[in-house]
Amino acid sequence: MTLPRLVTATANPGKLAEIEVLLAGVVELLPRPADVPDIVEDAGTLVGNARLKARAICAATGLPAVADDTGLEVAALGGAPGVDTAFFAGPDATDADNRAKLLRELEQAGDRSAVFRTVALVAYPDGSEVVAEGVCAGTIATEERGARGFGFDPLFVPDDGDGRTFAEMTAEEKHAVSHRGRAFHNLRALLQQRGC
Ligand code: IMP
Repeated sequence: MTLPRLVTATANPGKLAEIEVLLAGVVELLPRPADVPDIVEDAGTLVGNARLKARAICAATGLPAVADDTGLEVAALGGAPGVDTAFFAGPDATDADNRAKLLRELEQAGDRSAVFRTVALVAYPDGSEVVAEGVCAGTIATEERGARGFGFDPLFVPDDGDGRTFAEMTAEEKHAVSHRGRAFHNLRALLQQRGC
């Protein structure tokens, strides 16, 4: 059986491999074409940014395209950094800078609860789209633990786990409960319903 083709907006090979597993058997995932320039993510919302990326790739290829956007919402910070998570400690911030800033800002916090939220969106050439969301609730640890993953993984302890941070889990363990795992699981069901 030939599967419908879907171009991914991510240029990150790790994320591509992860999405490939999550959408296996429903679509054939094609890599992002190398000649598409970087897309400025300035929509101000996760769904808006996912749409900007998916629409740009769809326009460049003439094929349906999938993109995702993720934010960390920390209760004690009023839901920040949210859509600005990648740039929490500034425009050139590294993951380590962002984690250090989060630990500093939560030094006095009684409530260390947080939520990771991912929006995954498929944009079709006819202007239609499919949108799915995945949420993972958890707690920000008081110090970094674990060496796997990226971003805030060494600080994020999911509620649906055994007390380990994401960075202490295997990729399979993480994505069974993670925001991105759940968003693509939901997206898979919606694509199956639509017949892609
Ligand atoms: P993006 O939209 O997937 O690029 O995610 C934005 C930012 O959120 C990243 O720069 C990371 O700091 C953080 N982030 C996203 N997903 C994860 C995750 O699975 N673990 C830890 N941090 C993440």
